[in-house]
Amino acid sequence: MSKPQTALLLQYFHEINARWFDSFLEPPVLRWNSRLRSSAGRFFPGSRKFLSQVPPAIEVASYLLEEGNREALIRDTMAHEMIHYWLWVRHKPYGHTDEFWTKMTEMGVSRYNPVPRVRPYRYLYRCAGCGKDFPARRKLGNLACADCCQKHSGGRYDARFRLALVRTLARGEVLAQAPSP
Ligand SMILES: [Zn+2]
Ligand SMILES: [Zn+2]
Repeated sequence: MSKPQTALLLQYFHEINARWFDSFLEPPVLRWNSRLRSSAGRFFPGSRKFLSQVPPAIEVASYLLEEGNREALIRDTMAHEMIHYWLWVRHKPYGHTDEFWTKMTEMGVSRYNPVPRVRPYRYLYRCAGCGKDFPARRKLGNLACADCCQKHSGGRYDARFRLALVRTLARGEVLAQAPSP
C-alpha cells in the first residue's frame, strides 16, 4: 500500500470542524500511523510552554484504510480525537469526561471502536504432517509445526513439517479455527 495521504485527514477535519465546531478549531498536525493497533486514533496535546512549543497532533491508524466501511470509521475516529482536541484547546480536562461524552452523543459518533484491534489474518499456512491450519498476519519464514516437531523429531526443527502457504485469505474472511503458530 502506498503511503496514505494526509490530505484525506485534513478533508475530514474541515468537514467535522464546520459541522460541529463552527470551524473554531485550527488544524493540528494530522498524520497516519501504520503501527497503531491498540486504538483507531490518538490525540497528542501540544506543549504550551513559550520556549518549547509543540503543536498538538491527531493520529489515525492506517489499518482503517483497509476496512470496508473506512469512510465512516475514519470520520468517527477523527471526530472522536477532535473532541479531545476541542476540550484541550479550551483548557478543559480533555480525557473521556462528561463533557466529552455529551459532545460525542450530540455529534452522533459511535462510542466504541468497532474495528478489531489487531490486523486480520492474511495468509493461511498448513502443516504437511498433521494438516493443522495456521493463519498468519504476515508471511512466515521457515517455521515448522511445533506439535509435529515435538512428536517426531524430539522438538527440533524438521523441514518435513514446515508450514506451507495454502492461500491468501480474502479480506474480512473469518476462519473456523484460528490458532497461531
Ligand atoms: Zn478518546
Ligand atoms: Zn503438524
